[in-house]
Amino acid sequence: MNANWNFDNSYARLPERFFTRMRPTSVRDPKLVVLNRSLAEELGLNREALASEEGVAVFAGNRVPEGAEPLAQAYAGHQFGYFNMLGDGRAILLGEHVTPSGERVDIQLKGSGRTPYSRGGDGRAALGPMLREYIISEAMHALRIPTTRSLAVVTTGEVVIRETELPGAILTRVAASHLRVGTFQYAARFLSKEELQQLADYAIKRHYPDVEHASNRYVFLLEEVMKKQAALVAKWQLVGFIHGVMNTDNMTISGETIDYGPCAFMDVYDPKTVFSSIDTQGRYAYGNQPYIAGWNIARFAESLLPLLHDEEQKAIELAQEVIAQFPTLYETYWLQGMRAKLGLCTEEEEDKKLIGELLHLMYTYQADYTNTFRALTLDEWNFNEKEFRDWYVRWQQRIARQDITKDEVHERMRQHNPAIIPRNYRVEEALAAAVEYGDDTVMERLLHVLKYPYAYTKEQEEYAKPPAPSARPYRTFCGT
Ligand code: AMP
Ligand code: MG
Repeated sequence: MNANWNFDNSYARLPERFFTRMRPTSVRDPKLVVLNRSLAEELGLNREALASEEGVAVFAGNRVPEGAEPLAQAYAGHQFGYFNMLGDGRAILLGEHVTPSGERVDIQLKGSGRTPYSRGGDGRAALGPMLREYIISEAMHALRIPTTRSLAVVTTGEVVIRETELPGAILTRVAASHLRVGTFQYAARFLSKEELQQLADYAIKRHYPDVEHASNRYVFLLEEVMKKQAALVAKWQLVGFIHGVMNTDNMTISGETIDYGPCAFMDVYDPKTVFSSIDTQGRYAYGNQPYIAGWNIARFAESLLPLLHDEEQKAIELAQEVIAQFPTLYETYWLQGMRAKLGLCTEEEEDKKLIGELLHLMYTYQADYTNTFRALTLDEWNFNEKEFRDWYVRWQQRIARQDITKDEVHERMRQHNPAIIPRNYRVEEALAAAVEYGDDTVMERLLHVLKYPYAYTKEQEEYAKPPAPSARPYRTFCGT
């Protein structure tokens, strides 16, 4: 049986200092836990072959498929504001699979053993965090948010030692690429200008080939990445997604969400929401994400300086001119999305104020973010506070000034307000069943309802419930 892997490995043709060629470390006893059948199909892969013993051996790193050229990527990055040399410390890029329709995707094993970039780490991953990444990344995709995907999770038959012994696992991650802001920081800091330029040209060719009309191709790259990131973070804000560890090595050049470590969705609306146990300063709090994205883009701009202009001062001016646009750009995307969430299809000066008032009321009365919009969408609004009722009247008046029917308004809202998100307690429940009892059915059901978040099915209602008020504050941990 042939899985139909079709590798063509352009990254492996970059200069040697961008990676270390090496195979994944074999594991003892691989078992398939979950296979993403619809993604396999999208990629033109044979599902039966992927699920076979040979297929699973590939996901485990025990067998390198024909055409793959496994390597660990080098990168650097600012972690919580501090620059570090990093790299794939527990991941191996098998190569790039080219789909029947010509799309090129990275196939990466995460949790596949130590590499020269492991520093003190063991190169391994535990089952819980890998399933968590699988669930949330697939939920994000279903929410129409650009993201890396998850093709499979296998257990290794080995334990990893964290606070306790945990079952080891490997996630197969699929990405438009694994180029990061941190990859550019690595090149800018440690490699030659020629190598930096090769990386930039590579990124342009792979992600932004529309460059012909640009007067300066590296300014163009900066602008395009900035636009993608502004649009991405606006989408996160609109669904209440908190990434949790927006280090520059966790920001892609493609504009996909990457690195599902301590991420989680917000329940009650509060811009200060932080879930990550290590984010004690709230650097990556919900309300801070747009600023951090801008900060990261500034680091990207810095790394591109030698390419922007031969004279440093001119290069700095060019960079500043671009990144100064980030806040406005972000707000434009966000406002567009918020209007859609409220069923608005025209633009009025006062919209931003109307939206701001709603958010403020949600904050004051500790309303659930997702369910407030869900209730508005379903006409199940049940806030008794006078201020909320006043707001509702103003919103209705605003809607009445548009030339569309009430049905059309609600249809628009249904398209932009998810009926469900991966609620933290639901995710935990699914992980506990899978990891502690080897029962995958809870996760399968969750994955099933998360697949069509805008469908508003009966089945989803149960999953729309917010956590019990008594639930302890939710905490997340970096996925190590
Ligand atoms: P992350 O917090 O997942 O973005 O990872 C930051 C850096 O730590 C990256 O260079 C990872 O490859 C590395 N890393 C994370 N976990 C491990 C591990 N268990 N073993 C080795 N390296 C790791
Ligand atoms: Mg990372």
